[in-house]
Amino acid sequence: RLFVLASFIAASAMRVSRLPEPGQSLAASAYTFEAGGKGLNLAVAARRLGAAVDGIMAVGSDPLAALAEPALHRAGLPGGMLRRFEAQTGAGIGFTQDDGENCLAVFLGANRLLDGAAIRARAAAITAADLVLAQFEISDAAIAEAFRLAREAGRRTLLNPSPFRPIPPAILRDTAILVVNAGEARLLAAEAGIPEAGTPETGIPEAGNSETGNRETGNRETCDGEAALAAGLRARGPDLVVITRGAGGATAYPAGSAPHHQAAFPVAAVDTLGAGDAFAAGLAVALAEGRSLPEAMRWGAACGALVAMQLGVFDALPGRAAVAAFLDA
Ligand code: ADP
Repeated sequence: RLFVLASFIAASAMRVSRLPEPGQSLAASAYTFEAGGKGLNLAVAARRLGAAVDGIMAVGSDPLAALAEPALHRAGLPGGMLRRFEAQTGAGIGFTQDDGENCLAVFLGANRLLDGAAIRARAAAITAADLVLAQFEISDAAIAEAFRLAREAGRRTLLNPSPFRPIPPAILRDTAILVVNAGEARLLAAEAGIPEAGTPETGIPEAGNSETGNRETGNRETCDGEAALAAGLRARGPDLVVITRGAGGATAYPAGSAPHHQAAFPVAAVDTLGAGDAFAAGLAVALAEGRSLPEAMRWGAACGALVAMQLGVFDALPGRAAVAAFLDA
């Protein structure tokens, strides 16, 4: 059973031959408009992987809010997750160019209004969850309250601090599993004053350049700076730090044992939006099921790869059967 501190973003995405430059306007070749948000993606992905999922998610009072309920329903998530505020619903606009590179801006709107009181109203569900998941499209106050409740009840927590802002010490202290991408790791390193941690790609080949093209896990040398950063972060709370780097795979830095690198699966990436959310959900569900760390990293990587192979996120988040088939292939 998972509890997701979700977020809702009405997401517009356009496919363009190259990302627009300042002052430029371009014709797009494809357009998607879908229910999104990092927190909704986490909840939908975990549900599709077979987990029992509950959570909380804020929408506003404008027409965009109407997207949320059908999206929850379609994903098999409880309608009771929704909280309505007198505000604008969160919205995002993104561009993806032909090689999968993307950029986007997100307006958080109602997501910012989830507060400690809204969280306390769901305390029973939070303390009953095996794992409580959060991301950074909601307020520090909401995350801090939920993580405090979870840890007091002896539950585990997973934080994906994206879009990045500094992590308040109280939240980091109550985080068991921290999942960040390489860019976020660099920002955390700068904050923590660990200079070398900014070059995590060293020595780790990109999946697309892999000579063997194999799809197996490999333990490779990882960057000293990155390991130092992970140790520094673990000293402030988490017992597991996972750093993802797109087609460069991901490395887990657990307390008390050696780092574990999981190569990315070499797939034809179309749109990597949502890959990080899918990775975090795959990792979370596998760990909540009691699977080993290497197995959970494989699940995460499979989910990330499957999302990267499709344009859009919501419909691209894979089900359990798709992940199992992908891992068996
Ligand atoms: P974020 O979306 O947070 O930046 P990443 O881009 O690091 O996250 O992706 C998370 C994980 O998803 C990666 O560690 C990898 O396993 C998988 N993934 C992402 N992009 C690709 C890709 N182009 N090919 C294969 N797997 C990918």
